[in-house]
Amino acid sequence: MSKHKWNFNNSYQQLSNKMYSPVMPTKVLAPATVLFNKKLAVELGLVFEAADTEFKDGVFSGNFIPEGAEPIAQAYAGHQFGHFNILGDGRAILLGEIITPNGSRVDIQLKGSGPTPYSRRGDGRATLRSMLREYIISEAMHGMGIASSRSIAVAITGEKVYREDMHDGAVLTRIASSHIRVGTFEYARNFLSTEELESFTNYTIRRHYPQLQGSANAALEFLRAVVLKQVALMVNWMRVGFIHGVMNTDNMSVAGETFDYGPCAFMNSYDTKTVFSSIDTNSRYAYGNQPQVALWNLSCLASALLPLIHSEEAIAIKMAEEVLNVFPALYQQQYATMMANKIGFLVSNEEIVLLISELLEWMQLNKGDYTNTFLVIQWNGKLSQPIYEQDLFKEWLKKREILLAKNGISIEVATSLMQLNNPCYIPRNHLVEQALDAACFENNYDYFNRFLSTLVQPNDVVKEWNEFHMPPEVGDGVYATYCGT
Ligand code: AMP
Ligand code: MG
Repeated sequence: MSKHKWNFNNSYQQLSNKMYSPVMPTKVLAPATVLFNKKLAVELGLVFEAADTEFKDGVFSGNFIPEGAEPIAQAYAGHQFGHFNILGDGRAILLGEIITPNGSRVDIQLKGSGPTPYSRRGDGRATLRSMLREYIISEAMHGMGIASSRSIAVAITGEKVYREDMHDGAVLTRIASSHIRVGTFEYARNFLSTEELESFTNYTIRRHYPQLQGSANAALEFLRAVVLKQVALMVNWMRVGFIHGVMNTDNMSVAGETFDYGPCAFMNSYDTKTVFSSIDTNSRYAYGNQPQVALWNLSCLASALLPLIHSEEAIAIKMAEEVLNVFPALYQQQYATMMANKIGFLVSNEEIVLLISELLEWMQLNKGDYTNTFLVIQWNGKLSQPIYEQDLFKEWLKKREILLAKNGISIEVATSLMQLNNPCYIPRNHLVEQALDAACFENNYDYFNRFLSTLVQPNDVVKEWNEFHMPPEVGDGVYATYCGT
């Protein structure tokens, strides 16, 4: 096996040893890399040579530990559907942290690489299907300009994984700027001393918000910084119709990246109540609820930080509330600007807010596709669907035109603004399933790779409708996603 030097620089081990457990990936029978994100590997400085199949298969399956890695599973807790539980990496192992050629620090993690001390009753494994799903959706999110964990590779293990049926097992190698969660803070607050909580908070600040070091109240400023990141992230999810599906506090990164892709899905026709996850029976994590849930999760972060904010709890609560209370208005403002951008306006105003709400109401009533409706507006393009021939829609287009003129915005400016904000392609659920079927049942990755290549550049100027634009003929009614796969 050829020698490779990856630029590991592991820092998580300097924290209290209650924050993690050293653990090795479990070796697998017959590893084979089925997907490899070469472009990303190069950006990270993870150099592979063309003939490195054996190294790749080894490292991406957990069979070979690259020099400098110090594998650990991270401890965390979290509110799952509102209930507090002790969790931890049950099927993920952090190989270590890499310093990339541009100087940033990223976690490199294997998902599905065998049991850890936090596996509880789980097997520590993952199915090929769910790892391919995370790969394509996380790369699509990045393509849409949304902060996200990234995927480097998927390797099959040559072993079977038992869920309700038998599946091929696989390991996903992913990166994130860290895997520190709201739930990691909840864990530290509940099971560590205040001194240890403080040094963990300082560590996180150094890593993600170094500009806050030395602030008079660093914990409070940290909370504020995470609030700002989450507002921006929620606005982006709403922009493209992304539904995370399981926004438990353990699945929310304090770095403001989307991660832990489980039962996530994309909305086709616009409906704020859209839910796909089969376990979300109360629609807690419906499309339209996500900003509110983010705020709820942030209040869990705030409550974990209280002892660091002020020694008197009542005062600490008041200070934290003041920071959290910024969320609704800030979100409303950024959401309004984003929606204005989606129809070609630089900034929002009352008339534009009204125009947008008319459009959304019309979309919801007529089951208009959230992605394509904006493209129809943007391209002035015909899509052979009767709803776009409706007088009501044409009248709306006319109103928009008049309002653009009134605001002194040319069609060219409006169009380029829309191009930046409206993806031409999203990972539509039925197309993702089609790609996964071909890969999992026929070992054919052609469709997957073709679809992926459109998704990583979703804002390319395309003016013709093709198969990747089309919502499912049967609508969304029958589609469901499953967790824990
Ligand atoms: P999730 O909601 O998918 O992020 O997972 C919640 C918790 O369950 C985390 O602590 C996971 O590590 C753990 N978990 C999920 N699937 C498995 C599995 N197959 N084996 C062990 N732990 C798992
Ligand atoms: Mg998770």
